[in-house]
Amino acid sequence: MIGMFPQKKQYDVIIVGAGLSGLAAAVSAREQKLDVLVLEKGRSLGGNGNYVEGAMGVDSYLQKEQQIKISKQELLQDELNYSHYEANAPHLKQLIDKSGAMIDWLRDLGVKFAKVGPQGDSWPTIHTFEGGGHAAVTKLYDLAVAAGAEIITSTRAEKLLTADGAITGLVISNQSTGQQRELQTKNVLLATGGYVDNPELVNKRTPLSNRLLAVSNGKATGDGLKMAWATGAEHYQMGAIQYGGGAIYDKVNPPYVHMASQLAAAATQEAILWVNERGERFVNEDVNDNMCHAGSAILTQSRVFSILDQAAVDHLTEVGLYKEVGNSPISPDTFAALKQELDHDLQAGSRYLTKADTLADLAKQLNLPALQGTIDQYNRLVAAGADTDFGKKAAYLTPVTTGPFYAVELGVGMACALGGIRVDNDNQVLNSYGYPLPGLYAVGNDAAGMLVGDTYAVTLPGSTAGYAIFSGRNAILNIATTN
Ligand SMILES: Cc1cc2nc3c(=O)[nH]c(=O)nc-3n(C[C@H](O)[C@H](O)[C@H](O)COP(=O)(O)OP(=O)(O)OC[C@H]3O[C@@H](n4cnc5c(N)ncnc54)[C@H](O)[C@@H]3O)c2cc1C
Repeated sequence: MIGMFPQKKQYDVIIVGAGLSGLAAAVSAREQKLDVLVLEKGRSLGGNGNYVEGAMGVDSYLQKEQQIKISKQELLQDELNYSHYEANAPHLKQLIDKSGAMIDWLRDLGVKFAKVGPQGDSWPTIHTFEGGGHAAVTKLYDLAVAAGAEIITSTRAEKLLTADGAITGLVISNQSTGQQRELQTKNVLLATGGYVDNPELVNKRTPLSNRLLAVSNGKATGDGLKMAWATGAEHYQMGAIQYGGGAIYDKVNPPYVHMASQLAAAATQEAILWVNERGERFVNEDVNDNMCHAGSAILTQSRVFSILDQAAVDHLTEVGLYKEVGNSPISPDTFAALKQELDHDLQAGSRYLTKADTLADLAKQLNLPALQGTIDQYNRLVAAGADTDFGKKAAYLTPVTTGPFYAVELGVGMACALGGIRVDNDNQVLNSYGYPLPGLYAVGNDAAGMLVGDTYAVTLPGSTAGYAIFSGRNAILNIATTN
């Protein structure tokens, strides 16, 4: 139902946000025969769940079929080490232990998976949705509505209502008219998608930079965190930004314009040579195997340029890739459109792209005084077959010798931000003494800071989407057994 107030004034449970976690929770709520309302502030449904490739699971039907065996203990240990033990071990363990059953639950509901496996150098945990995240959220929406869930759009949750510390309801507003109304419930699920679109909150986690480019839907403004904090929830560690590795630093067009661009993949994924604002090399470019580490590395410099020579462009266009593309929606055998994209962007006067016949001219245009020296040294390392400066794998050492030369300026994409709220294993929101605020639950990205340290776990691919679905269902199962 679009842009209207809910049919009733009282519900067993009210879910704030009709994204991936909210819709999974709505289906679960109807399975448990709970009277459920889902509020969505946007005009469309599915949140960032629409863009998801796949969801994490361990020991699912698909992994069993393909004889993919993962040691849950080793996986837990690995992720705890990766997070420097900032991840909450019991919470992460619960997700690992129960995520396979969650994938099977989705399969039983009719959600279709195309494949399961790793993403680059990772655990083989990502179950790719057939038709992408949009197909999955659409299926969940259809199921929830058919089972009797009430879902309304253009309606924002503004404020939680409590009595003696326990949830009694919330205030909502119609986004078209501004009218407000109070609803009653003993259970609220915050499923608002985290805070990547709230610069003030992002700034608490990482120094704000205009080179950070949010690739989300713009609605993850931290509403759940703010409502929870205003009700007495602990201000828990802000956790991690899910950096999407290097991204074309385009100050004019929105980031999604470059999502399927071969130039972007050449500059960020092939990563032949990256230099900083002085023209100095600063990292092993293989860091792009982990998109979050690549994002962090880029932010250590003031500006970053990916350098390509004509020989590399010719090779990528006509012969093949130097390196399999990991973090990109595209993975062709060659970048057949690369030359066309370069011509198009140069003709359009795109500020992120610079072309020069000589290195001296490229250095002059971009004010990179150290560029010539850097490239001489880099070519020496390539010739010697060993990157004794930064340790890039020998297989990916490609010389930069043949003009014309291209420089693509890079920023850092951000998919989501995790952290800010602490929950228990029932996804109940905790106060700073570690006790639940009765009736208040946080799920999906609003609670996913529990799983990470300062860097998102790309080693466990699909974990945010998997957690969104798992935690939505987990909270509802708790409500059903305790109410
Ligand atoms: C481009 C992209 C690709 C991604 N790919 C993957 C992937 O392959 N695997 C993976 O694990 N993760 C991936 N993610 C992350 C994934 O999208 C999220 O982890 C997941 O969608 C989180 O679910 P959620 O329910 O917490 O938030 P969302 O799905 O974003 O839903 C939150 C909803 O809450 C609504 N809302 C917010 N505030 C209010 C309010 N006050 N009142 C009412 N409604 C409100 C929002 O409008 C939104 O619809 C990707 C993210 C992006 C941006």
